[in-house]
Amino acid sequence: MERVREVRQHIGGEWVDAAGGRTYDKRDPWTGDVFARVAAGDADDARAAVTAADRALPDWAGSRPADRQQILLRAADALDRQRDDVRGHLAAETGCGAHFADVQLDFCVRLLRQAAGLGYAPTGQILPSDLPGTRALAVRRPVGVVAAIAPWNASLVLAGRAVVAPIALGNTVVLKPSEEAPFTGGAFWARLLRDAGLPPGVLNVVTHAPGEAGAVAETLIADPRVRRIGFTGSTVTGRRIAEIAGRHLKRAVLQLGGHNPLIVLGDAPLPAAVDAAVYGAFVHSGQTCMCARRIIVERTVMPDFAALFVEKAAGLPTGDPSDPATVVGPVINEWALSLLERRVREAVDLGARLLTGGRPDGRCFPPTVLAGVPPEAELAFDETFGPVVLLEEADDAHDAVRRADATDFGLTAGIITGDPYRGMDLARQLRAGVVHVNDQPVHDEPQMPFGGVRDSGAGRFGIGFAAEEFTEVQWVTARRE
Ligand code: NAD
Repeated sequence: MERVREVRQHIGGEWVDAAGGRTYDKRDPWTGDVFARVAAGDADDARAAVTAADRALPDWAGSRPADRQQILLRAADALDRQRDDVRGHLAAETGCGAHFADVQLDFCVRLLRQAAGLGYAPTGQILPSDLPGTRALAVRRPVGVVAAIAPWNASLVLAGRAVVAPIALGNTVVLKPSEEAPFTGGAFWARLLRDAGLPPGVLNVVTHAPGEAGAVAETLIADPRVRRIGFTGSTVTGRRIAEIAGRHLKRAVLQLGGHNPLIVLGDAPLPAAVDAAVYGAFVHSGQTCMCARRIIVERTVMPDFAALFVEKAAGLPTGDPSDPATVVGPVINEWALSLLERRVREAVDLGARLLTGGRPDGRCFPPTVLAGVPPEAELAFDETFGPVVLLEEADDAHDAVRRADATDFGLTAGIITGDPYRGMDLARQLRAGVVHVNDQPVHDEPQMPFGGVRDSGAGRFGIGFAAEEFTEVQWVTARRE
């Protein structure tokens, strides 16, 4: 029998058990077997991690850009060499299939390589002053200790995005992964960067039992030594994080949920539009924040689009995430599975038409398409994290934009059209942080200003944009009498 993996916390360069000695079992979402026995840390562990990060700060903030660059480049090469292992870890921990594992790996290798240059970015400006003999500078300096709170769903990317740029900019970090991804979203990054030469205390990882995130997160945010919060997760949790951060007068970068529209206009090339929609709705089993949740199709092409789309969705291979052919794998846990089932049932009870899917199949939820979902159904207005998508008919492009914006969220959007310039004009009307014309909404690159507006968040990750979030401006003057 295979040995159960132990996931310990990483504090001050040491692998440590929880202060209270507790553990919990993290299970494989497909097999149900125990994937790892994980340290169930608490507020004491969170404080110890902040102490380690705070101690490491002066040396790290003052380190040479060349040294930071070396570490990040070594980590990129090491990650690139471990692709097969990482694919296996992602499948067993989060049910991630081979395709999306490669998407995550490619992103993270590029992220590390690009962030390696961040230490060489200009750090300030010379400002004119009206006072005689005065030199004035605006200098960007690291904010200090960053608390990074990450979700489970694209665990490798979202932990990486939360820690790599802040570290490259001279900050130290306490990472709190999701209880569903303590390894690929936590300990794995600590090991990768430590093996690449990252000094003790620069990246610390605190893990906790399911249901105990609140106490650990609140301890981190409230600690006066923590100066910035990077949060990625649901809008419900993000609101809580923002409230706590606000109480302590701290800025939180918030990357939250979405209810993302994909608009298909009447002049769109149909087979390509259908392929884009199928990918956008069902990649990673619909469990990315960027997934298309609503496909808004111009009336003239709806019958042809719907027929092709439903046929393709219904035929997607579903099941074991370690089978490279699988497109739709297991949903992360029982709670998520029953939420999907309940919301689909509610929509149908309220008058929606179920075109395919709709009921759990073991640990999977098959690709599900609904039309005519009334606005009062939860599926219509709340993010539902899984392979469920709504079809909606629009009179024309203007009506499509109006429908796309009829949501409190504003993360990603896509527009498929035969006229990309018209698509770009429409993009400017959409209230979304990211719009892709002639592509579906699931697309990100490490250097891009990824982020949402409205209930989808505030602030941007992305190499080059992260400096705005994870450094602060100091005004320095010097006078010569
Ligand atoms: P989640 O909100 O349940 O958890 C996110 C993090 O918050 C985890 O570390 C979790 O342990 C912690 N947490 C949970 N409850 C908490 C509480 N009461 N107090 C403090 N912390 C708490 O989200 P999830 O299910 O892990 O991830 C999926 C969600 O994340 C979706 O809504 C998705 O859209 C969103 N997401 C957004 C982005 C983005 O970039 N905008 C990227 C990926 C995922």
